[in-house]
Amino acid sequence: MKLKIYNHMTGKKEEFEPLDPSRVTMYVCGMTVQDRPHMGHMLAFVSADLIRRVLEYFGYEVLHVQNFTDIDDKIIARAQEEGQDPKVLAQRNIDRFFEAADALHIERATLYPKVTEHIEDIIAFIQRLIDAGHAYEAGGSVWFDVRSWPSYGELSGRDIEELESGYRIEVDENKRDPLDFALWKASREGEPSWDSPWGPGRPGWHIECSVMSTKYLGETFDLHGGGRDLIFPHHENELAQSKAVGGQFVRYWMHNGLLNLEGQKMSKSTGHFFAMEDVLAEFSPEVVRFYLLRGHFRNQMEYSRERMEEARSAYERMRRALQRIEVSAADPHLGEESGPEVSSPEGQALLESAERAKTAFDEALADDFNAEAALAALFELVREANPYWVARPEAPQLEAEVVHRVREVLRGSLAVLGLFESLEAGGGEIPPEIEELARRREEARRARDWATADALREEIQSKGYTVEDHAGGSTIRPA
Ligand SMILES: [Zn+2]
Repeated sequence: MKLKIYNHMTGKKEEFEPLDPSRVTMYVCGMTVQDRPHMGHMLAFVSADLIRRVLEYFGYEVLHVQNFTDIDDKIIARAQEEGQDPKVLAQRNIDRFFEAADALHIERATLYPKVTEHIEDIIAFIQRLIDAGHAYEAGGSVWFDVRSWPSYGELSGRDIEELESGYRIEVDENKRDPLDFALWKASREGEPSWDSPWGPGRPGWHIECSVMSTKYLGETFDLHGGGRDLIFPHHENELAQSKAVGGQFVRYWMHNGLLNLEGQKMSKSTGHFFAMEDVLAEFSPEVVRFYLLRGHFRNQMEYSRERMEEARSAYERMRRALQRIEVSAADPHLGEESGPEVSSPEGQALLESAERAKTAFDEALADDFNAEAALAALFELVREANPYWVARPEAPQLEAEVVHRVREVLRGSLAVLGLFESLEAGGGEIPPEIEELARRREEARRARDWATADALREEIQSKGYTVEDHAGGSTIRPA
């Protein structure tokens, strides 16, 4: 099946042809780590994870690079506020990023380069831009000369003249033109700085992504991802810088939609219930991942507690269906009465439904990673399977081939999306009362309320079940 990708550069869905037929190169703009990760960040990274997993599902090896911006104005300002070393602040938030990413089952990127570890590469890149006549030094800073790059605006579709008159641009007396942007910033008193041919300073924001992406992926690579809010100026600037030293830079530009709260772009300043710690105290990581995968990644998503509750009930519907199927599949008496052949018309129809769901799932993902439609195909299969199980309440009455095939399609497909990867361990049917206790214990654990969590564990054990904790959640079994 051929994969199609919506390429922001051309505004079209295009058939995907990686430069190297077996290996895809992908760069994703990572976090600026002045604060803890929030839901808006995780939407971008779950979207990138979806793309990565689907590429792997379609047989590609993926070289995935995602940076950390670990020095910039916001980090310096925050560190000064807190009386902290910017390095310590950045590392603390990098640790929090990994905690959240692991909880959400985001596969680790191949590389996570940091700005502070690439200063020499950045200086060399800037020097190349100066030598090529696309950048100039003024007052200890270095600026990209936007007027020297005629195709500036090609990604965002903006016109230089319009930008000049309308866009609110950082004013600096050293710039030749208001549109020029900083590649290197002369350091101010008390700020972290590095020596350079232009004096002590630090990199501007945009240059790091050009340097780190091309260093590890080559001057031209396949995919570049990030949120829609990065298209201008960040990606436009990355593109100008990178093409100015050679190469096409990026072959397919992909941007995820943003998370909206009553029409407002979510940012650090919009209050609580956005920080991952707060969200994960109320919802299990799998429900959060499920919510973030439910829409098409390119669309804007509405975010509220109500939407999260809706996601939880849909997720629970799927979980209960899987649980029932797992119990049937594990039953030693499965199919004893029905025999080895699939002889019932309902069984044959359900086998066909399973094949249809699998095809629809694959087609949806091949069509620009449409997880929304892919999940809808699986829910449709669950809906169609329900009457079959209702009519055959005992395992001997079920047809083994039907049970196994429906199980295989659902579990295999959900695993592609990084969902229900650990359900196998669940074993037998767990009474709702025990599940409720387990859910409350998970919440207590995420809120680091260990006393309550321990008390709930004891209560669960006293009712004949054991709890096993593992990364991203826990599993209940009959003792
Ligand atoms: Zn970037």
